[in-house]
Amino acid sequence: MEQVLLMGNEAIAMGAIRAGVAVVTGYPGTPSTEILETVARKNPGNIYVEWSVNEKSALEVAAGAAYAGLRTMVTMKQVGLNVASDPLMSLAYIGVEGGMVIVVADDPGPISSQTEQDTRHFASFAKLPVFDPSSPEEAYQMIGDAFAYSEEYKTPVLFRPTTRVCHGSASIVLEPAQAASSAGAFVKNPKWTIFPRLSYEKHLQIEARRPILEADFSSYPCNILTGSGKKGIATGGISYAYTCEAIQALKECRQRENDVQKNSSDIDYKLFKVSTPHPFPVRLALEFLSGLDEVLVIEELDPVIEKELIFLCGQYHLPVKVFGKLSGHTPQAGENSIEIARKAITKFLKKPNQDEDCRLNLSTLNAKHEDINNKEECIAEEDQQTVEVIQPEQPALPVRPSVLCAGCPHRASFYAVKKAMKGKKAVFSGDIGCYTLGNASPLEMVDTCLCMGAGITIAQGLHRAEPDTVNFAFIGDSTFFHTGIAGVINAVYNETDIVLIILDNSTTAMTGHQPHPGTGKTMMGNIAEKISIPAVLQALGVKQITTCNPLNLKQAVAAIQDAAAVRGVSAVIFEYPCIAIAKPGPQFTVDPGKCSGCKRCIKELGCPAITWKVDKAEIDSALCYGCSLCTQVCSFAAIGGEPV
Ligand code: SF4
Ligand code: SF4
Repeated sequence: MEQVLLMGNEAIAMGAIRAGVAVVTGYPGTPSTEILETVARKNPGNIYVEWSVNEKSALEVAAGAAYAGLRTMVTMKQVGLNVASDPLMSLAYIGVEGGMVIVVADDPGPISSQTEQDTRHFASFAKLPVFDPSSPEEAYQMIGDAFAYSEEYKTPVLFRPTTRVCHGSASIVLEPAQAASSAGAFVKNPKWTIFPRLSYEKHLQIEARRPILEADFSSYPCNILTGSGKKGIATGGISYAYTCEAIQALKECRQRENDVQKNSSDIDYKLFKVSTPHPFPVRLALEFLSGLDEVLVIEELDPVIEKELIFLCGQYHLPVKVFGKLSGHTPQAGENSIEIARKAITKFLKKPNQDEDCRLNLSTLNAKHEDINNKEECIAEEDQQTVEVIQPEQPALPVRPSVLCAGCPHRASFYAVKKAMKGKKAVFSGDIGCYTLGNASPLEMVDTCLCMGAGITIAQGLHRAEPDTVNFAFIGDSTFFHTGIAGVINAVYNETDIVLIILDNSTTAMTGHQPHPGTGKTMMGNIAEKISIPAVLQALGVKQITTCNPLNLKQAVAAIQDAAAVRGVSAVIFEYPCIAIAKPGPQFTVDPGKCSGCKRCIKELGCPAITWKVDKAEIDSALCYGCSLCTQVCSFAAIGGEPV
């Protein structure tokens, strides 16, 4: 084992390599930049590293690889997480297969940022675990723990060093690296496609996981409780290091005074180090609060630990006074320092103890903890019962599965891709819009869906895990302009092989047909110059761009096969207007004399206009939009009408 002097960011990188990270993405930003650069420099050869075009793309590429089981790391600074917050919030629900650690470096001061925002808030907002290292040495070890927790709970986790941890240096003993598995295997499952019903279930699961993680983190060795007395100091991150040094200085000072006065130099206090501010290690925190009169919280940026302790004091009726940022006992902005910690601690430890009788002992607290948990369970059960009782008797509602409209051109596009890829290993990443419904049977052509614009970047992550698979990314025209373009730039710049399918139906269909830059209209009613999607793609360096009508099945299949054979980024733009803004085509009908009853039109297309009557297919004239797709699918020429 080698001992080396490393900067905190280098230590994080080396810790991730040791933990077997396989994909590292990020966007540069002080104080995080050197993490990814170190991985690139020390790459044993099997780690894929990229600077992505922004933090959102970085997070999505890593998520795609983590879906396929690889250990992935994303790096950014705190304001970068604002850019990546859309995939972050959805990924918290979707989860991961391989361990995924999102390193977000906070910048107290700020030294080189617009804001002093605190990533620990993002952790509780997204309901994700967060790790807060207090030194480069701890960061080196802790990043491995972060990967392990991520895999155990199948969730991305946040890792939040601050500037002095990132840029401080320490002598670190490097342990042998685990062999990184750079070959992933994406297993198709509906759980990768976010949908309102799935989100509701996932939300419940995440809430149910919180107390489990709270208990788990109470035993996590980096959450430390030491000492005894009636006063307690709670701290975390780099402030823990400042606190330890400040206390040491204080002890030495008292020692000198007491050597003169011949008194004891002991200082009685409890020290609580919080390395996982979310979910908060409640049991350990209660152990800390037990028997205390007063607590001083020393932390940087926002009063996160302070608020958690105040909350627990309220919940458990603990007569403990909590001092910190909220009470004006520590600075509300800027970096901490040993001097700031020393002043605050000196003042705090000098204060007389008060109200001894009001203190509760630990056994009482534990009993209360159980009592509150039991009550919460009872309330949840009662709520459930109440819901059941107050529900008036209702007739069962007819099942109305979400489905693409009859005549929707997206059906034809998905069908063409499915046909073109038959027998080939392919994954289909979708996006947000009507076309997410392409995941339903019988098409089953959306394997992943995370958030706006993520289909293109998730496909890139999947490609890194399984390069021999053809990775498709479907995106609508409006979503392309929303957040898709950056993903295309990322794919071209980072030399990824993906097939981009743009489903251009000339409108923002799902939300009610609003105009977008490709429609040539504005909300002021003006006719604006259309922004051409092929011209944008060409300017971005997409190698092959084909535009075709998805309702011409033969042509559409050929276009897909050509595009799938291209290395790099190729694109097929399926252009046909949404049925809500297009004139209906001629009615199609089934000739019962020719219909063999093979059901192919029903089983393969799922058009709601085609129904089954006794032993033949039938087209509902009230629903048929005359798209002509079914006539191209029927091998018995049983469906009549004019092709579009
Ligand atoms: S033509 Fe066929 S596929 Fe198209 S809307 Fe009518 S029934 Fe459905
Ligand atoms: S595909 Fe043609 S033959 Fe088969 S059920 Fe449909 S209409 Fe009848």
